[in-house]
Amino acid sequence: LMFTGLSIANGITVATAISTATERLRRSSETARLDAELLLARVLNRDRSYLRAWPQKKLSLDEQKRFHALVEQRHNGIPIAYLFGEKEFWSRTFEVSPDVLIPRPETELLVELALATLPMSGTADVLDLGTGSGAIAVSIAAERPLARVTATDLSSGALNIARKNAVRHGVRNIRFRLGDWFDAIACDERFDLIISNPPYVADDDPHLNRGDVRLEPRLALKGGRDGLDMFRIIAREARYYLKPHGRLMLEHGFDQAEALTNLLSELDYADISRHADLQGHFRVTTA
Ligand code: GLN
Repeated sequence: LMFTGLSIANGITVATAISTATERLRRSSETARLDAELLLARVLNRDRSYLRAWPQKKLSLDEQKRFHALVEQRHNGIPIAYLFGEKEFWSRTFEVSPDVLIPRPETELLVELALATLPMSGTADVLDLGTGSGAIAVSIAAERPLARVTATDLSSGALNIARKNAVRHGVRNIRFRLGDWFDAIACDERFDLIISNPPYVADDDPHLNRGDVRLEPRLALKGGRDGLDMFRIIAREARYYLKPHGRLMLEHGFDQAEALTNLLSELDYADISRHADLQGHFRVTTA
């Protein structure tokens, strides 16, 4: 049966809808069944356990139509997070749009390390460069109410989303600046922590043309010929904007730790250390 044929049939069950949609998504998504379940759960305003509990429940015609529309968009390569307009990160839900990179679970390591250096009961000046959705900056600001967080981005579309996320999570200790890396910062500002998940994918990396990444902003992903261009800019400038004993904290690709360590030591950074994500890959370097 064609999926389109089923979409107008009467009395389709949850189980049938999921298996048909899974088939439809088989070639376009690596997580076809999960996607089908997430999309149907969304349409029914339930969670996935409901689908497991009620496989024989019949869908209304309206539910079938809305499910069909979402499955077709997913089939065309639109990431689930863009379809839903939101993504979970560090226990909060963040608004996302095609203006921003979808927050990744790996980036939670950056937040975890940042929070470890920021005392609960102390003030600190924190700078998040290239904030995108604001996932990092808002998470830090929310969990360290005494910190003063500055978040920058070159994209005004991204800053709009980040601002909405600050409002959504009731965060007041954050301000937003539009601009290219340190151009967004006054020359006399100094920070205890400068943090960034900059674009670090090499321009010709085939990963950019595969899967969900295809529809994410190039501006948030492409880091020049070897992927390290943004680290060169940030590391060179950050020295002048750190307070004495301030820290620089950068997310990077799983195979970039060594190159970044060399770059940082050439620039006379001290206490350089690398940190592994849950997969055991070095993904964050601090100095
Ligand atoms: N981790 C992202 C990816 O591989 C890249 C994020 C970035 O460039 N900052 O899709």
